[in-house]
Amino acid sequence: MTTDSRFVVVGGGLAAAKLAESLRDNDFDGTLTVIGAETQLPYERPPLSKEHLLGKQSLADFTVQPEQWYRDHEVELLLGTTAGTIDRSSKTVALPDGSTRPYDKLALATGSRSRRLPIPGSDAQGVYMLRTIEQSDALLSMFASARRLVVIGAGWIGLEVTAAARAAGLEVTLLEVGAVPLQAALGDEMGAVFGALHRAQGVDLRCGVKAAEIVTADGRATGVRLADDSVVDADAVLIAVGARPNIEIAADAGLAVEGGVLVDESLATSDPDIVAVGDIADQQHPVLGQRVRVEHWATALNQPAVAAQTMLDRAATYDRLPYFFTDQYDLGMEYTGFVAPGTETSVVVRGDTAKREFVAFWLDSGNRVLAGMNVNIWDVTDRIKELVLSADAVDPRVLADTSTPL
Ligand SMILES: Cc1cc2nc3c(=O)[nH]c(=O)nc-3n(C[C@H](O)[C@H](O)[C@H](O)COP(=O)(O)OP(=O)(O)OC[C@H]3O[C@@H](n4cnc5c(N)ncnc54)[C@H](O)[C@@H]3O)c2cc1C
Repeated sequence: MTTDSRFVVVGGGLAAAKLAESLRDNDFDGTLTVIGAETQLPYERPPLSKEHLLGKQSLADFTVQPEQWYRDHEVELLLGTTAGTIDRSSKTVALPDGSTRPYDKLALATGSRSRRLPIPGSDAQGVYMLRTIEQSDALLSMFASARRLVVIGAGWIGLEVTAAARAAGLEVTLLEVGAVPLQAALGDEMGAVFGALHRAQGVDLRCGVKAAEIVTADGRATGVRLADDSVVDADAVLIAVGARPNIEIAADAGLAVEGGVLVDESLATSDPDIVAVGDIADQQHPVLGQRVRVEHWATALNQPAVAAQTMLDRAATYDRLPYFFTDQYDLGMEYTGFVAPGTETSVVVRGDTAKREFVAFWLDSGNRVLAGMNVNIWDVTDRIKELVLSADAVDPRVLADTSTPL
């Protein structure tokens, strides 16, 4: 790469900011432009449903780099700017003002958006979603005036907002279509642990129910009608039914896309001059031996260092195991590893789920550890990693026995 090289990053979240940082850290001294649709400097999203909603942190605390950093490192930041068509033959990215930006290497870090719920009333006033700082601010203001909140969806964000709302003194009804919270992510047994946690905190958790309509009066949400025609009254409603990756820009450019943007071990897309990182990257994972797309913070934090090497034409491989965390009330959790959807697993618990102090392991049919989740037990992530990485079968009874060191 020469000082004349032009690198462009499309996306304005954690992955985009970390990529800019990694490129400069690796002495890339060409032109570097970050095009981000949001008007804020790139920031981290986990606090939006936790510390920020609990009033413990403000945006400056979780902004990735202050504005001065971009100036000092000569990174051109085009904020409030949604990148349009990528023309791979002319190697340009279209900007909303009709101009184009040429690139030698391009990175896509376009992240996800909240999934919409196609039911009547979902656009009414008093209906909230959560992906951005503005939406977190709006929830925080609502907490100050509302008394009854209905949360649709007991996934990570629905549960975290529920916890923050309870801390703010709201009555919360949590509606979940599955049999337990987090069923797709954790399965029945561990999902039930989170269900019990929220019920113990006074949440009216209703599983196996489907929201059919948001009831409104004068354009404002007044409740949620369920499929059985009953209505749960509310002053406000949060829709938290998952996320969708922003992959249209990649698909329109003719890149290989299948639910995410397909990338190889080095995070290169089907075009060697374009990498993809973060929520959108569907990677052929070198350790797990399968495609993995992870919509979690640690991936957006760590993939950019590898993608930067790839953009600089240096050999690099992203081989970290998926990792994520949550904080709800006094429960802190970390999860390490990967269980592919549909895999037959058994769960081994080491510790006490009733006290919410345990490590759970997901084992495949050959008793090999696929993933581990530590709840209110700390400094075991490295050990869980080792167990996942070793292909050895474990004895479930020994694993469950807390008198045997991990
Ligand atoms: C409320 C909330 C809480 C979370 N909590 C946790 C947690 O506790 N633990 C955990 O592991 N993970 C958590 N996550 C997930 C984590 O935040 C995401 O995985 C991470 O933000 C992904 O980073 P990213 O940079 O890939 O994408 P994003 O953060 O989604 O950023 C993408 C950016 O690109 C912009 N963009 C999109 N298209 C274009 C375009 N065409 N042109 C220009 N810009 C564009 C978007 O506007 C956005 O600013 C949470 C997410 C949310 C929303």
